[in-house]
Amino acid sequence: MQLRATFRTCRVVVVCSTLFKNGPQTCKWLYQGKRKYSFMPDDVKSLRTVVNPDISKIRNIGIMAHIDAGKTTTTERMLYYSGYTRALGDVDDGDTVTDFMVQERERGITIQSAAVTFDWKRYRINLIDTPGHVDFTLEVERALRVLDGAVAVFDASAGVEAQTLTVWRQADKHQVPCICFLNKMDKPAASLSFSIESIKKKLKANPVLLQIPIGIGKSFAGLVDLITNQRMTWQGKTREEDGRVFETKPLSQSDDPELLQEAKEARVALIEQVADLDDEFAELLLGDYSENFDAVPPLKLQQAVRRLTLARKGVPVLCGSSLRNKGVQPLLDAITAYLPAPNERHHDLARWYKDDLCALAFKVLHDKQRGPLVFLRIYSGTLKPQSAVHNINRNSTERMSRLLLPFADQHVEIPSLTAGNIALTVGLKQTVTGDTIVSSKASAVAAARRAQNEGEGERRRGKGGGEQSSLVLAGVEVPDPVFFCSIEPPTMSKQTDLENALTCLQREDPSLKVRLDPDSGQTILCGMGELHIEILHDRIRREYGIETHLGPLQVAYRETILQSVFTTDTLDRTVGERRHMVTVGLDVSPVPDPSDATSCDITWEEEVKGHLSADLREAVENGVQSAYLQGPLLGYPVQGVSTAIKSVTMEPGTSLAMVSACVSRCMLKALKKARGQVLEPVMSLEVTVGEEYLSPVLGDLAQRRGGIRDIQSRHDDKVLLASVPLAEMMGYSTVLRTLTSGNATFSLQLDSYQAMNPQEQSSLVNRMAGLS
Ligand code: GDP
Ligand code: MG
Repeated sequence: MQLRATFRTCRVVVVCSTLFKNGPQTCKWLYQGKRKYSFMPDDVKSLRTVVNPDISKIRNIGIMAHIDAGKTTTTERMLYYSGYTRALGDVDDGDTVTDFMVQERERGITIQSAAVTFDWKRYRINLIDTPGHVDFTLEVERALRVLDGAVAVFDASAGVEAQTLTVWRQADKHQVPCICFLNKMDKPAASLSFSIESIKKKLKANPVLLQIPIGIGKSFAGLVDLITNQRMTWQGKTREEDGRVFETKPLSQSDDPELLQEAKEARVALIEQVADLDDEFAELLLGDYSENFDAVPPLKLQQAVRRLTLARKGVPVLCGSSLRNKGVQPLLDAITAYLPAPNERHHDLARWYKDDLCALAFKVLHDKQRGPLVFLRIYSGTLKPQSAVHNINRNSTERMSRLLLPFADQHVEIPSLTAGNIALTVGLKQTVTGDTIVSSKASAVAAARRAQNEGEGERRRGKGGGEQSSLVLAGVEVPDPVFFCSIEPPTMSKQTDLENALTCLQREDPSLKVRLDPDSGQTILCGMGELHIEILHDRIRREYGIETHLGPLQVAYRETILQSVFTTDTLDRTVGERRHMVTVGLDVSPVPDPSDATSCDITWEEEVKGHLSADLREAVENGVQSAYLQGPLLGYPVQGVSTAIKSVTMEPGTSLAMVSACVSRCMLKALKKARGQVLEPVMSLEVTVGEEYLSPVLGDLAQRRGGIRDIQSRHDDKVLLASVPLAEMMGYSTVLRTLTSGNATFSLQLDSYQAMNPQEQSSLVNRMAGLS
C-alpha cells in the first residue's frame, strides 16, 4: 500500500491512493504530535457505504453560533464520538481539527468554514463549520447555500446573541430547517427557560423542547428524552472522562419524584404543541389515543416532530454541555432524525440536469503542494476523478485530477461521488467560489432547453440574465467592503509574488476586493472589517512568505447630494478627420432615503428616449454610471441620487465613447453644484458587559459619537445596543478589553450609511486633502 503524506501548516494530509483495492482495514494509523488519527472508523463494513451512502442517509449540516457559544468544541466532540479522532481536541489548547488555520488556533476563533465528513450510526454527516465573527458573515451565507439543515449552538447562560441572530436570518432566507442545542448547561448561570424565551423573542421561532436537563450548573448530569421518556446520564464529573459511555434507562425507574413530575408536564406540553402544529399527529392523537395521550408511540411523535421541523413550523431544542462531554450523542441522533436528507430539499436548478452532473463550488482553498482545492456540493449526477468538467460562470472546460472526501482532517481519495454529497477536488485551477460546475457544455445546453420548455427560461431571460445565467446556481451576494488600506511589498521585486498571493486569496474569499489606486499606483485591499484585513495580512506573511506593509486602515465612505440641479454641457472635439459634437442636459436630485445603497437611478424624458437608438441610450447611461463611481467631494461612490436625462442632441458621426464622456463630465458638474454630502457607514453595536463596567463603556461610546438604543439586563450582565460610526470603532476590541478587564464581548455589523455632520465632514475633507 502506498501512502503519501504532504505537510501543510502544522497538520498532516494523507492520501491513500490504493485504499480501495486493499480495503480500509489495511490502513495504518498516523500520528502527529499528541493526536492519533485513524483512516476510517473501525466499523466500516463495505466500500460502497463509505463512498456513496444512500442519499436518504446523508445529512449536510451547518453549525451556527455566536462566537464562544461552543461550536468548535461541539464539532470536536462529534468527531470524537463518531470515531474519527482518537483524542479530544480542545480549543483552549489550540489543537482542534476544524479550526485548522494557524491564526484560528492562535486566536481561538473559527474563520474558514471547513467541511468535515464523518459517519454516525450508518448516516453520513457532512458538517460545515461556519464562522462566528461578524467580519465573516459571507462565509456563513455561502455555507448555508450548500446545507440542507443547521444546528444553532447557544450558550445556555446567554441565550440568543447578536451573531446567531444574523445567521438565523440568513438560514430563514434560505429556508434551512434548524435544530437548537443549548450548550454550556454546566455553567452556574445556565437557564433553560431563559434560553427558550430568548429563542421565541429574538429569533421569532417556535421552540419545541425535546429534552429537559437533569440538574443544572455544577450538578448537570444528563437529560430526560421527552420523546422516549428515557433518562440519560453521564457519569463523568471531570473533563478527562470522555463521555463515551452513558446510561440510558426508562424514566419510570427514576427515584426522583420531582424530576418525574417535571418530565411528565414537559411531555404533555410537547405532545399538545406538536398536535397544534401537525394535523396528521393531531388526528392520530384524537383518534386512537384520545383517552391517553401519553400512550402515543414515541416513533409517531418523532415522525411528527420531523415533519414540523422540515416544514419550519418549529425548531427542536436539545441541551447539553460539550465541554463536559454530555448530550452530544443525542444531538447527533437528532441531526439524523430531524434534519432533512438532500433529496428532501428543493433545489430548483438541479432538476433540469436530471442525471447529469450539476455542482456548486462553495469554497476554494490553496494548498502549496496540490494547488487549489475546490469544495463542491453535488446537486445531481456523479463526479469522477480524471475527468473534464464545464464551468458555466467562466465558460471554460477544465480537468479535475483527483476526488477526495474530507474525512476529519484527512483527505481520502475516492473513485466517484454522487448527488447529495460534498466533495473536495484537486486540479480545478480556474474555478472560483460560487461557480456552477456541470459535465459539459452540451449538458448545460440540454438543461437550458429543458428549462425553457418548462417556461422558466422565458421568465428568467426576461430579467435580462440571458440563457447562461438561468443555469447558474444562485451565487452568493457579496456585500460591499467597508474598510480599505494600501498594501506594499517589502521590495518592488516582490510585487509579482504579492499579486499572485492576492489572486489566490481572492479566489478563496470573494469578500476581499483588490484594486489599484490610479493616482498613487498603490495596491489597495478592501475588506469587511479590521479583523478581516488583519487576518489577510497575516496569511500573506505565513502562507506566501511575504512581509507586507499595510497603510492606515480607512473607512469606505459614500457621497450624496442635498439639492436638485439642472446642468447642460457640450463636448465639441475633432479627432483626425472626424468631428464629435454632443450636448446633453440633465437633472440630478437627492432621493428621500440616501442610506439605501441601491438608491441611484436614471430616468428619461419619454420624448428624448424615443429619439435615441438603444446604443446611444446605453452610452448615455454608461456616462451616468461612471460618474456615480466617483463622487466630486472625496472620490467615493455616489448613492442616493436620481438622474433625469432631459435632452441629448448631437451631430451625425459622433462616437458613443464621446457621448459617454460628455454625460460623465456634465454629471460631475451637476454633482459639484448640488452640495455634496459625505455618508459614513454606521454600525450597530452590541456589547455584553458586567454591570460594574457599564459606565466606563458608556462614557467611551459617547466619545465615539455613539447613540445608545437600548440597555437590557441578562442575569448579572448588561447588554448594550448602540449605533456608532465605523470610523470611530478602530481598535475597539483592545480598548474594550482594557476598560472592562476583559469582562465584555461585542459584535459589530453594518447598519446603514448616514450623513456626516458638517463639522465632521469638513475636517474629513481637510484631512483627505492633506490640510490638517
Ligand atoms: P466557538 O467560538 O463557538 O467555536 O466556541 P469554542 O468551542 O471555541 O468555545 C468557546 C469557549 O467556551 C472555550 O473556552 C470552551 O472551552 C468553552 N466551552 C465550550 N463548550 C462549553 C460547555 O459546554 N461548558 C462550558 N462551561 N464551557 C464551554
Ligand atoms: Mg470556533
